[in-house]
Amino acid sequence: MHKKIFVSSLIILLSVLFHNTTLAQKSRIKTIIVDAGHGGREPGANGAYSTEAQITLALSLKVAALLEKELPDTKIIQSRTTDVFQPVTEKAAFANQNKGDLFVCIHVNAAPPIRHSEITGYRNKVYYTGKGKKKVKHTKREPVYRVWHTPNPRYGTGTYVWAADRDDSKASAMSERFESEAEVSDDVPDPNTPEGLIASRLWVQKYFKNSVRLASMIENEFVKIGRKSDGVLQRNEKGIWVLQATNMPAVLIETGFITNKEEEDFLNSEEGQEQMAGAIVKAVVTFKKTMDASRGNSVSDNTTTGAPSSKK
Ligand SMILES: [Zn+2]
Repeated sequence: MHKKIFVSSLIILLSVLFHNTTLAQKSRIKTIIVDAGHGGREPGANGAYSTEAQITLALSLKVAALLEKELPDTKIIQSRTTDVFQPVTEKAAFANQNKGDLFVCIHVNAAPPIRHSEITGYRNKVYYTGKGKKKVKHTKREPVYRVWHTPNPRYGTGTYVWAADRDDSKASAMSERFESEAEVSDDVPDPNTPEGLIASRLWVQKYFKNSVRLASMIENEFVKIGRKSDGVLQRNEKGIWVLQATNMPAVLIETGFITNKEEEDFLNSEEGQEQMAGAIVKAVVTFKKTMDASRGNSVSDNTTTGAPSSKK
């Protein structure tokens, strides 16, 4: 009797161990997409001597090379490695087609110049009212302004996640993924059923949580290298479209202000680029480890990371 209990406990123990090991070995983050913002005929923001597209390309080449070194078992795919134009729709489609499990998008911020004005004198302006014999001449004293602009001193980093009101777009991007993965996997819900719709919304919530987690890890690393951080942000602008149209956790990193001379210099320098790429990669590696660890430790938590299907 005791022997029977021992044997069955052993079987349960072994199967739990085996199950956990398999989960731990199979990382949910198998493919990382690194996207250099803008490019080609769309240079993005302009600095005094460089463009956003030049900096994002230099940074993402460094990020990808470092990631390949740090995560040899992970596929690192860059959306562009040269100065070519890519509409944001193409970038998102590229990431989805390559079945990315994480989308890291690199940008440089810009702030409009600050407008100043001062009154330098006055002039008389002549105007008339009435018609014919009733026409009356008037003169009005008007100030004369001198207007000039100075560079906006705004500086610092910020990492964006999609705004919560874009969850529906993200869910429809998810449905497309379910549709393509349902052909090769049984554990993916049919997106055309209510269950599938609910599932895609749940994935969006998980992805949102994970995107925020990665974004804050990135900003923390920036603070460690001495950057001023605006933290994790949400925004609804055109450039952010890639975040909602990709069916994976996604972050958009604003690496600094090209309109601030010091930050333009820093982001164009070899040292600055190495520091920034190093910080981003450190955060991504930590994020992946955290995700994989939570996956190995808890069987019930195995759906909180990466893509809905692990069969690729
Ligand atoms: Zn940009």
